[in-house]
Amino acid sequence: MRDLTNEILELIRRTSSSLPPDVEKKLRESVERETPGSAARGALETILKNVELSRAQSTPICQDTGTPIFYVHYPEGWSTRKLKEQIRAAMVEATKKSYMRPNAVDSIYDKNSGNNLGGEDFPSVHFEEVDADEPLVIELMLKGGGCENVGAQYSLPDNRLGAGRDLAGVRKVVLDAVQKAQGQGCAPGVLGVSIGGDRGSAYIKSKEVLFSEMGTRNTDPKLAELEERLTHEANTLGIGPMGFGGQTTVLDTKITGMHRLPASYFVSVSYMCWAYRRRKMTVTGVDVVYE
Ligand code: SF4
Repeated sequence: MRDLTNEILELIRRTSSSLPPDVEKKLRESVERETPGSAARGALETILKNVELSRAQSTPICQDTGTPIFYVHYPEGWSTRKLKEQIRAAMVEATKKSYMRPNAVDSIYDKNSGNNLGGEDFPSVHFEEVDADEPLVIELMLKGGGCENVGAQYSLPDNRLGAGRDLAGVRKVVLDAVQKAQGQGCAPGVLGVSIGGDRGSAYIKSKEVLFSEMGTRNTDPKLAELEERLTHEANTLGIGPMGFGGQTTVLDTKITGMHRLPASYFVSVSYMCWAYRRRKMTVTGVDVVYE
């Protein structure tokens, strides 16, 4: 089987040092919405300057290089064990080259492994087999710690917020999560929301939706409408970039629905910061294409 360690290393470099074009475009549009001379506009301009410098110098966009989350879509014939070994080897090399800050800390002994490997779970790697004639696709997201800390999960009904088990209730709790996050999630952010599932599967789904492009709407018109509405309403809360006030708190919202047990109704919110780092590589024969 082909060794893709170097190609995966390049995927990590690109993800850590360069925002995807759709995210950067959205950030540039947001600058125009903020008042000239305001703290909000200044914060966005600084973010964009930082993005340009990082791309030019192959340095991380943010000192927090985040939790690495890989999704591997592999056609029959590839060894998931070997792919995982290659991902881990690339992560060690990326840490040596300072594309990644050493981020894996043993929670029991409070010791940093120094190479971004930790047990079997760090980095996090998900595999999905696809049809034999499809290419191998590896997606990577680097999820910042500050924004992860302000993620939230609600069990509905939530009497304190007056949120019932319906989309009106979902709206209330998602806005509550944004309000509580204030600037601590490094706004402007993107909301990944799952409705249903169990506590574990729901959080995973709320991150998976963040792999889709900016502006991609759910095919269910009810959820698409709620996505638009939540982005709009979050931007009226006045939190603004990095919590400095202003019009831009959330760049986009992505919602997915899941089946659930009759007894449970979870709404899970994964908050992605402005450093919305996600990339993918597609391997077709000897060709590797990065997006
Ligand atoms: S939450 Fe995002 S922008 Fe904030 S420090 Fe972490 S990676 Fe950087």
